[in-house]
Amino acid sequence: MAETIGFIGLGIMGKPMARNLANAGYEVVIHTLNRQTIETFTAESDTFVAASTPKEVAQKAKIVITMLPNSPQVREVALGENGLIEAMGEGSLHIDMSTIAPAVAVEVSTALAGVGAHALDAPVSGGEAGAINAALSIMVGGADADVERAMPLFEKMGKTIVHVGASGAGQTVKACNQVMVAINYAAMSEALVLGAKSGVDPQKILQVLGGGLANSRVMELKGQNAVQGKFAPGFRVDLHRKDLDIAMNAGKNTGTPLPVTALVQQFFEALSVAGRGGLDHSALITIYEDLARFKISDV
Ligand code: NAD
Repeated sequence: MAETIGFIGLGIMGKPMARNLANAGYEVVIHTLNRQTIETFTAESDTFVAASTPKEVAQKAKIVITMLPNSPQVREVALGENGLIEAMGEGSLHIDMSTIAPAVAVEVSTALAGVGAHALDAPVSGGEAGAINAALSIMVGGADADVERAMPLFEKMGKTIVHVGASGAGQTVKACNQVMVAINYAAMSEALVLGAKSGVDPQKILQVLGGGLANSRVMELKGQNAVQGKFAPGFRVDLHRKDLDIAMNAGKNTGTPLPVTALVQQFFEALSVAGRGGLDHSALITIYEDLARFKISDV
């Protein structure tokens, strides 16, 4: 009999991650806000079993993964009414793979420890493509034994899996990741708008910079979005904005100035105010285009 795993939060990332677990032979108990998604999954395969609350998921599965938008949703699902905590106990393990504040990861882990359950924070990088291809980078915070227990599951969803420290450390490293990605987007956007407004074909800029030190994963994976003005998500601007808030708070809490992140955070604020919060984060280039009164995709 296949082991049963709970999975809560079937969005852009959660859907392919849950499917990868099912394809690997696990029975997956699912719960998410969208009823239609649950029906699609249960119609797709017998390996998916519906549950109507997080508590019911934890009654049916000893290990429960969450992939939710932000800290309030993780707190509610884990510790709220009909939450995981009401059914978890000795032998239960909560693995939160969402991106949330490190302090909330510690809060959830501490509360679950109060009923004898264990918790890991295991946020991911690699986007929707990484989730679909089971090629995510997974940064894990928590106890050695829990990481060892979760490793077979991580290996079905990701390729680069690193235990980075105690509870909360996974979320801290994810904040570092989001700082680097945001600043990379700003660098690419600034360079492309300068080059294109100066009259150079932006495709040629991408091509030649791709062979030198300026190359980046951001440019490889999202350069075409920026040049063609195609911003279907992917990773939504509003989620990255949330992650930069987490990073700025972590900076404040640890006394670490993050001057460039602070500037890029304001660009993300401007994107949201401009009604572009639902676009892919590669839409950061549109703020540079607004400032320069120039649109690359019009070239
Ligand atoms: P999403 O908005 O597409 O999915 C979130 C899912 O959570 C939705 O299906 C929603 O129904 C469900 N949900 C929300 N509140 C709930 C609740 N109270 N109970 C049950 N289900 C609930 O978001 P996503 O893009 O899949 O991202 C999920 C997390 O992963 C976020 O923290 C995000 O920052 C992170 N992340 C996303 C990407 C990406 O490329 N999209 C990459 C890395 C990390």
